[in-house]
Amino acid sequence: MLENQTCVVTGASRGIGRGIAEELGSHGANVVVNYRSSEAAAHEVADEIEAEGGNAVPLQADVADQDEVDAMADRVAELYGPADVLVNNAGITIDKKFENMTKDDWETVVDVNLGGVFNATNAFFEDIKAADEGRLVNISSVVGQQGNYGQANYAATKSGLFGFTRTLALELASTGSTANCVAPGFVETDMLEEVPERVQQKILDRIPLSRFATVDDVAGIVRFLASRDSSYMTGQVLAVNGGMEW
Ligand code: NAP
Repeated sequence: MLENQTCVVTGASRGIGRGIAEELGSHGANVVVNYRSSEAAAHEVADEIEAEGGNAVPLQADVADQDEVDAMADRVAELYGPADVLVNNAGITIDKKFENMTKDDWETVVDVNLGGVFNATNAFFEDIKAADEGRLVNISSVVGQQGNYGQANYAATKSGLFGFTRTLALELASTGSTANCVAPGFVETDMLEEVPERVQQKILDRIPLSRFATVDDVAGIVRFLASRDSSYMTGQVLAVNGGMEW
């Protein structure tokens, strides 16, 4: 399904990115498993994909650093040629009520969650434009739609991806390549583990399907967006949130 497609997944050493990398790898893609610091975990992801018969390489780059991302893009070109699919997944949180949020808390989250999306898209944009049906997939969040107590910085970055995606969809449209956004609800990863138990219970009470998402719930949607099955979809936000209203 994704045979000979080169797919770059940022932040793929853990959590949702890992699930996406494994899903794309199991459907024939050449997968770039990007990570910032979890080297051993990223190697494990790539090894697992290869053990299942796929192709994968772990590549380090802090998405907030354009030079590092450009160096990664050069390496991808050497290994696999131009990229066909970029999944902008890497993201972080620094949760605080706004009155306690420092400029540094704001800038650190913006630099990764939005700056990183700019840097990676910038590095792979010409590839995606030139690809036969290139794909840009941005991982946003239900928090970008609803806002969330203590997450003003994170929510702002995740809402920002809606306008970014819509604009890139328009600018890519004449090439046949697409840009879409996935807005997961609350997913069982390290990021959710940081949320206190009592807050997790309050969130669960608001989810009609009465459970948190698994990584696989999100990965399958990204695989669909990366594939030819989504050729006529662009500029969209796909909510994967167990039925939460927004
Ligand atoms: P996670 O478990 O904390 O994993 C984050 C991943 O991003 C790791 O692979 C990490 O790599 C990487 N990363 C962080 N900063 C990076 C940087 N500067 N450069 C490169 N890689 C970086 O997070 P997650 O829960 O899977 O979240 C993944 C994405 O889904 C994020 O964009 C998040 O906002 C979004 N999301 C998550 C949820 C949720 O409930 N979990 C819900 C909606 C949306 P290292 O291990 O090397 O640091």
